[in-house]
Amino acid sequence: MKDETRVNHPPLPPQPSDNQSLLFPIYENVKWEFETVDESLRMIRGEREGYFYSRVANPTVRQLELLLAGLQRREDCVTCASGVNAIAQTLLALTQTNDQVLHFAEGYAPTRQLTRNLLGRYGVRSTMLSIEDHVGIERALAGTPTKLVIFESPTNPVTKIADIAVITRLARQYGALTVLDNTFAGFHQHGKFEVDLFVHSLTKFATGAGDVMGGAVIGSGEPIRKVRAEFRALGSQLDPHSASLMVRGMKTYFVRYRTQSAHALAVAEWLAARPEVENVRYPGLTSSRFHALARAQMQDFGCVVTFDLRAGAEAGRRVTEALTLFAHTASLGSTESLIVPPQMMGGRELNPEEREWSDIRAGSIRLSIGLEDPHDLIADLERAFAAAR
Ligand SMILES: *Cc1c(COP(=O)(O)O)cnc(C)c1O
Repeated sequence: MKDETRVNHPPLPPQPSDNQSLLFPIYENVKWEFETVDESLRMIRGEREGYFYSRVANPTVRQLELLLAGLQRREDCVTCASGVNAIAQTLLALTQTNDQVLHFAEGYAPTRQLTRNLLGRYGVRSTMLSIEDHVGIERALAGTPTKLVIFESPTNPVTKIADIAVITRLARQYGALTVLDNTFAGFHQHGKFEVDLFVHSLTKFATGAGDVMGGAVIGSGEPIRKVRAEFRALGSQLDPHSASLMVRGMKTYFVRYRTQSAHALAVAEWLAARPEVENVRYPGLTSSRFHALARAQMQDFGCVVTFDLRAGAEAGRRVTEALTLFAHTASLGSTESLIVPPQMMGGRELNPEEREWSDIRAGSIRLSIGLEDPHDLIADLERAFAAAR
């Protein structure tokens, strides 16, 4: 063998079958081969297990998908490049021209924009309501055959709790699929409800480090099979290295999620006692109007605490700029605490009625509570409130 050939066919080190690595290797690899053409054909026809091309399946990515499907108590999971990617492709996979989608003013702004603008371009119609309007939801489903209902709980950014049992029951009754963006609740909650598909941003809680982006769709039966086939055709697969970082991050998921939830409750209780604060929206607070519903649906209430400053947006700007431990930036769920000031709370494309449903007020601020000592976070907030006065 000439050296030019040798470097393209490096020797395989021994890998005894009774001597396994503890961590699954990162298959930073695009293609797999079979000994025979017939086996390749069987693989492509789905008649055997295996791998052929990483856009279709990759073992490292597959380990993450199987882990997430198990946590969410469903058959299968498909991952992709970001949370927005998961939402966009799910909407595209499940709808066609003249279909009707029901969505909500309280949700993540890009979801509303994808539903109205992207689907709208392909002739998919949509209705927007408030997640609390059960009468309106039933009227909409009864009045117009609806393909799917996409919603969140807790909602981003004001942490309203959707009544998942009511929404899934109505959707089933009128033949609509339900898609729940479960990013805030995490991978371990809401699996007991009859939700057809869960979507997640993996960017938030999968590693908690804010170092990789990803998205996932989790479900059972025909809807997830359809989503898997369409995602592969659209080609925005998660990179195996990112998937491996997420599998590693997931080992501390419960410790992080539960500790962040406990710290969030401590911060929410402190805020609720402050004269500068009009209202604290945290479903874990016993004074929250969503607390009873949240308790019935969840065990852990998450790390996002939204509150309204009486003094309004400019005071919110001063508080944000005076904080030293909270990073003033997008995203949530990371081990460091974050803040979104009133000026960046979104909802600007909503009409006055929808904006009222969205419940974003002049002084609304969203906090994501991390793993710092909560006393330090509270001291930082206290200093910032004093500085903003
Ligand atoms: C962040 C977020 C997304 C989008 O996720 P990316 O990974 O940033 O694309 C979707 N839904 C909710 C509720 C989110 O908070």
